[in-house]
Amino acid sequence: MMITAAWWRPLDNGQVACDLCPIACRLREGQTGPCATRANHEGTMVPLHYGRIVSSAIDPIEKKPLYHFHPGSPILSVAAPGCNLHCMFCQNWNISQNGEARTLKTSPTDLVAMAQAEESVGIAFTYSEPLVWYEFVKDTAGIVREKGLKNVLVTNGYLNPEPLAELLPLIDAANIDLKSMDDVFYRKICKARLEPVLASIRQFREAGVHLEITNLLIPGHNDRDDQITALVDFVAGLDQDIPLHFSAYHPAWKLNAQPTPPATLQRARELAAGKLKYVYLGNTNSSEGRDTVCPDCGTVVVERSGYRGVGKLTDGDRCPGCGARIPVVVN
Ligand code: SF4
Repeated sequence: MMITAAWWRPLDNGQVACDLCPIACRLREGQTGPCATRANHEGTMVPLHYGRIVSSAIDPIEKKPLYHFHPGSPILSVAAPGCNLHCMFCQNWNISQNGEARTLKTSPTDLVAMAQAEESVGIAFTYSEPLVWYEFVKDTAGIVREKGLKNVLVTNGYLNPEPLAELLPLIDAANIDLKSMDDVFYRKICKARLEPVLASIRQFREAGVHLEITNLLIPGHNDRDDQITALVDFVAGLDQDIPLHFSAYHPAWKLNAQPTPPATLQRARELAAGKLKYVYLGNTNSSEGRDTVCPDCGTVVVERSGYRGVGKLTDGDRCPGCGARIPVVVN
């Protein structure tokens, strides 16, 4: 049975207009959007990967990365091919930029049953771009909720506000990739714009979704002090408690910059000190910037080794050293 996509309009000339993301495609008969997830089929917009997965794994939730949401929990992580951004440095380009990638058939109920069988805390829609897998994510997320499990998005945040508003009541936690505070970076390197991403971040927050932010630091592209400071200031302006993950870049796809030196990660962390309470360093072998530390007394409240987190909180979310509340979601 063919599924019809959400958020599109037929046009007079047989084309269809997509209202899902800010790219605002007009697709001719037979044409697929640049996201490789939606196509005009005989004047109707259809989602191409409904019930198809390209990757699945049980990951530690820390790998998303989410450090303040059910630390130490396993989560079923799934993806379909495609993405509406085309970041030259994409670390998952083999699935995000390959609409033809081989997929396996599944269904919302099958995935939720798998999550339950694996004693997963829920389902993470991740690896490629879940927001343009919209119809399947929404249908699955509804069943996840019915079963008392959690829905997680790892996303670029590039969606129009109306479809996002419809999805967010089902979402428990998200890690949004904020690639830069520079619109030129978004235009040149990602073929997108900055402002819709910032608007989405605000929208996730206002909807009460647990939010963490990741910034991949790419030498020579977004790692100057003023660029890092602008990003830190934006996040701190929303809430000092939002965890910010600075992540190391490794050359991938179309960008061949040098890998992020450990000193750059350290410098980013120092620039954020005093502005944000929880700053982490990822994609690196160093153990620095991994643990969650109480900002009041310095006690380690979640200890991490690799991607494994061990919580030491008392009464759910209290520091065992001084009793301060730590913004970690455990229920
Ligand atoms: S979701 Fe895909 S088809 Fe729709 S506007 Fe965005 S890129 Fe175009």
